[in-house]
Amino acid sequence: MKNLKKQDSKVYELITGEMKRQQEGMELIASENYVSKAVLEALGSVFTNKYSEGYPGKRYYGGQMFTDPLENLAIERAKKLFGADHVNVQPHSGAPANMIAYNAVLKPGDTVLGMDLSHGGHLTHGHPLTLSAQIYNFIGYKSNAKGEIDYAELEKLAKKHKPKLILAGFSAYTRQLDYKKFTDIAKKVGAISMFDIAHIAGLIAGKAIENPVPFFDIVTTTTHKTLRGPRGGMIMCKAEFAKAIDKSAFPGFQGGPHMNNIAAKAVAFAEALKPSFKIYAKQVVKNAKVLEKELTKRGYKIMFGGTDYHMVLVDVMSSKGVTGKQAEHALDEAGITVNKNMIPDDPRSPMDPSGIRIGVQAITSRGMKEKEIKMIVGWIDEIILVHDDEKKLAEIRKVVAKFCKKYPIYPAV
Ligand SMILES: *Cc1c(COP(=O)(O)O)cnc(C)c1O
Repeated sequence: MKNLKKQDSKVYELITGEMKRQQEGMELIASENYVSKAVLEALGSVFTNKYSEGYPGKRYYGGQMFTDPLENLAIERAKKLFGADHVNVQPHSGAPANMIAYNAVLKPGDTVLGMDLSHGGHLTHGHPLTLSAQIYNFIGYKSNAKGEIDYAELEKLAKKHKPKLILAGFSAYTRQLDYKKFTDIAKKVGAISMFDIAHIAGLIAGKAIENPVPFFDIVTTTTHKTLRGPRGGMIMCKAEFAKAIDKSAFPGFQGGPHMNNIAAKAVAFAEALKPSFKIYAKQVVKNAKVLEKELTKRGYKIMFGGTDYHMVLVDVMSSKGVTGKQAEHALDEAGITVNKNMIPDDPRSPMDPSGIRIGVQAITSRGMKEKEIKMIVGWIDEIILVHDDEKKLAEIRKVVAKFCKKYPIYPAV
């Protein structure tokens, strides 16, 4: 960053500060990851200078001899990765991808069944503060006491409300979805089925869990969570929805695509096609299982009865008498980053809920395995136990920083 350092020392210092924070901290937020240097280089490329409104072969501006093959390459790689009929790589991120998908198949006022937020659904699946909830009529379904999606209730709700769209997908729910059962319910009531795989796209790409793309009409995702690509979104769909999705992305919702971002997506998709990514994805799931078992051993209540993915949702309030906010704060003080999170039908408020969410996909990218997860759970437990002892937390922080130094984010490449 020679030029940046010389020209703008303020921004340069913030970037190097963030680099140090990422290097020395233990990142356990379930939605983050570390992209490769190749992805960073593509993101910082001259494609950021180019306007490319439209699609390959049908652009509104000239000079597309490199953007057209680039976007086609990203699409081809994504199709190979997920076995999708049609792919749109232009959505700027996960939330706009969902808006684009809704706008493609719904009219204002149409009914959508989506997962209740406190049961692990996402804001964009009908939270009253979102634009989509103001446009469409969202109805929530839940998980049952066993931690499974309550398919019987889902079917009842579907028959009663006759939704135009039935939406699967979650940010904190951790159990494998029965794709066939879910999409059969949609078919039964003549609804379109959609799955937002933002969190688990990398696990699917790495074949650690079954691929839902052949089952669902529309699948939306982010590219920056377990998929380990640049911050961005993507939509996959059956051929019959291709035109509507593309029209809804542009000109319906967005302007020009971010071609530097699409370049980085293409690089990340090629990485995910490599055998090493399968090993990564399987290790992520293994690590999450160890996290679940070790926490359970130490008396923590894991929601939904466990995890099949990269994260766990822990009820710290009923387990240890510490609120989600307190736990998040204490862990932060000790150099471990997680986020507070609602548990199903949480009696507490969203700003100070009962739970925390812990994900292992980022630290797995740094090479941490079962042995390391056990040590980390030891620290987490100790931190929650001593949560208001600042001195103890500062001591643990030093140990954590020293430990993290052994697992560089960017090993010499
Ligand atoms: C993260 C997430 C999103 C939103 O993605 P952004 O890139 O933050 O806009 C949408 N849906 C689900 C299920 C998510 O987990």
